[in-house]
Amino acid sequence: MSHLGASLKEAVVGSASSFPWNKSNLPKQLFINNEYVDSKNDKKLELYSPKDGSEVAKDVALAGEHDVDAAVAAAQAAFPGWKKTPPTVKRDLLLKFANLLEAHGKTLAELTRLTLGAPFGSFGSFEINMAVESFRYFAGWIDKFAGESYPQDDGFMKIVRNEPLGVTAGIIPWNGPLGNVGMKAGPALATGNCFILKPSEKTPFAALSLGTLIKEAGFPPGVFQVLSGDGTTGALLASHMSIRKVSFTGSTTTGRKIQEMAAKSNLKRVTLELGGKSPAVVFDDANLENAITWCVNAICANTGQVCFAASRVYVQEGIYDKFVQGYKKAMEERAKTVGDPDEDSTVMGPLVDKLQFERVTGFMDRGKSQGTLLTGGGRVGSTGFFVEPTVFTNVPADAEISRNEIFGPVSVLNSFKTEEEIVARANDTNFGLMAGVFTQDINKAMRVASDIDSGMVGINCVSLCFLTAPFGGSKESGTGRENAINALRMFTEPKTVMINLTY
Ligand code: NAD
Repeated sequence: MSHLGASLKEAVVGSASSFPWNKSNLPKQLFINNEYVDSKNDKKLELYSPKDGSEVAKDVALAGEHDVDAAVAAAQAAFPGWKKTPPTVKRDLLLKFANLLEAHGKTLAELTRLTLGAPFGSFGSFEINMAVESFRYFAGWIDKFAGESYPQDDGFMKIVRNEPLGVTAGIIPWNGPLGNVGMKAGPALATGNCFILKPSEKTPFAALSLGTLIKEAGFPPGVFQVLSGDGTTGALLASHMSIRKVSFTGSTTTGRKIQEMAAKSNLKRVTLELGGKSPAVVFDDANLENAITWCVNAICANTGQVCFAASRVYVQEGIYDKFVQGYKKAMEERAKTVGDPDEDSTVMGPLVDKLQFERVTGFMDRGKSQGTLLTGGGRVGSTGFFVEPTVFTNVPADAEISRNEIFGPVSVLNSFKTEEEIVARANDTNFGLMAGVFTQDINKAMRVASDIDSGMVGINCVSLCFLTAPFGGSKESGTGRENAINALRMFTEPKTVMINLTY
């Protein structure tokens, strides 16, 4: 799914770290100013296992207004010192933090798995590894994100400095709880900002446990804080007058609200990484096996709960029948790997919770009257939130399952005739996150890659990302980019300093 590395190394960190958290001792307090503290809000988060619906915890802190204000005040106090911390010190802190994440990766994955249900061998280790590699990658940028200068031919020397913004926040979804932390906290901290992390109410435990590692890595109080909570906490951050930037990943519906809250408060900067309905286009001359493998992995990874999943598959009519056969077989093979996320042999775990289960199975049920069910279409077992990988064929473009993001292992598969026709059909969506083009003809591949309106396009691959290249979408899939140098730009203000050389 990505090339960030498949397995998590068991690193040895210099000093033996005491990491008290595990499934019998869950972190439930907020992490403010380098201390675990109770929330001043009486409301609590309740968490349940997606394996069987059993209760995991009913008393996890939900940060309210006083808690948010306390974290913002601590961050404001920490900012001047953190901004001026020498680059090598900042770098070493981020690297140490990355090593600590890696050393405790299996436990962190378990803390997430309790309420997300992602098996370690497939998505669990992938997203921890992504967090580890993000902190390393952005640590490497710290002394290399130089500004610019412009010639003094007109008598004025112009120097552009990349200034940190101040107090920043990351509001993240449940589907990649730690991977998202790396992609947001990494560039925010590397560029000298203070950062407040707001994990999803559905997957708070790995994020809350980070407090111990933040302290052990040596971050000064107030630089990196964690506030668990729900949408109300997110809204307090998005509308806060002293937060200068919110980096948000989540649904398009919430993204709109965040942008509105930012506009109505202090015009804080906003990066939005939102939903998708990404097309994979397979031409007659494609390597069939390669196309099928990518298309199956793309829609089944993390049980389809991936923003850039290729959920619309279009195959040219010359190989359509063969593709249908191979894709169906591969999806049915994948169905055999659905099971208990705690078992090593499981590739596909359950959907995250009852709400998501009802949403996805609702799409599956209604889809049966919108297209032809090729495979799947139902629940697996009678407890927990397990579903079959599902494909519908011959689905009209205006059908609900063709247009809406389902966020489950459900794809629509249709045939097409010409390149011109398929570019129009692929672009017939409000989203623009990812696309895939499968062909042996490089000219055609490059033409289609250029004509498709999306932030990312894979050629002979789809639904993948790299830390070294911009990540994000066009249209209603979002605004701004994560990863690469682009992420650093999203967390800094270019300041132009003009020197008068004429007097
Ligand atoms: P969501 O929008 O419901 O929630 C995301 C986060 O926003 C959570 O932390 C939530 O507490 C918070 N939130 C909810 N209401 C809020 C409000 N009014 N103000 C401020 N914050 C609020 O999304 P989700 O269900 O957690 O995640 C699934 C969605 O995320 C899907 O649409 C998926 O495509 C998208 N996603 C996008 C990317 C990407 O990079 N483009 C990556 C992962 C997930």
